[in-house]
Amino acid sequence: RSKESPDERISFYEAGMDEAARERRSLARDVWTALSEKQFFLAYQVQKDARSGAITGYEVLLRWQHPERGLVPPSTFIPVAEECGAISAIGDWVLEHACAEAALWTNKDKIAVNLSPLQLGNTALVDKVRTVLLKTGLPASRLELEVTESAIIGDKARALHILRQIKALGVTVAIDDFGTGYSSLETLRSFPFDKIKLDRSFTTDLENSRQSKAFVRAIVALGKSLEVSVLAEGVETEEQMRVLTAEGCDELQGFLFGRPAPYGEVEIGEEPLRKKTA
Ligand code: C2E
Ligand code: MG
Ligand code: MG
Ligand code: MG
Repeated sequence: RSKESPDERISFYEAGMDEAARERRSLARDVWTALSEKQFFLAYQVQKDARSGAITGYEVLLRWQHPERGLVPPSTFIPVAEECGAISAIGDWVLEHACAEAALWTNKDKIAVNLSPLQLGNTALVDKVRTVLLKTGLPASRLELEVTESAIIGDKARALHILRQIKALGVTVAIDDFGTGYSSLETLRSFPFDKIKLDRSFTTDLENSRQSKAFVRAIVALGKSLEVSVLAEGVETEEQMRVLTAEGCDELQGFLFGRPAPYGEVEIGEEPLRKKTA
């Protein structure tokens, strides 16, 4: 490439940009129709009590089965949906669909639904949550909402107001990917959380980084003093499970216990694999 003139390199760069932009535009177009074309489905990933191994709930993870591209990962399409504004309609669908499904389960486990920062910036969210609970009959105590730190560093006062109203409904709130954001301690000090979800990177580094272990220990201590539970994400090995449990994490989630899968294909505790209506 060194033989190219700067001009040639720039046009090569621009062509690359065009390609990326075209790709995003094409995904954005498709993501708008994905809802009406029923291309989304939900996967559930089990969460367990670290000490007893009992199931404590399931995280709801959105999946997009694209007609040509196949399964598109959320890390690709969620940012696009946020950029083009489709995320609020998609977020509503996830909430409604997850609550409706969980209301039919014979087991009474909790579901944890991810929220986009954009959803938490809109006061309509509170009404949406209230209406969905009423409509589906899911008890508020069975719903948890996962928010990332980035969701609350925008308009803090508004996010705080919305979170308080949601909690007043009886819904619990977890802070997702904790430790990767900017204002960790400040966030914890001022926001009403019930659970800290320790980012997967700490679990991954546990075996070869003393800092990661020290961080886990510190967050567990913080969780204890704030009386919120601490869940470790991304547990893939027995050794990680052993260390995280020894360090006092309350809950664990990761491929070791189960991959996200449609309900009916995931482990559901003592209950047989069937729905109330079946
Ligand atoms: P997240 O909320 O932190 O979800 C956990 C992610 O880690 C999931 O990726 C899950 O499949 C993956 N994971 C779980 N256990 C393990 C493990 O042991 N090892 C590894 N390597 N990965 C593990 P997924 O499903 O691809 O979702 C990625 C992100 O997309 C989520 O991160 C969340 O931020 C976002 N997302 C997913 N569904 C929704 C949704 O319905 N709404 C919104 N706003 N965001 C969503
Ligand atoms: Mg999450
Ligand atoms: Mg997470
Ligand atoms: Mg994550």
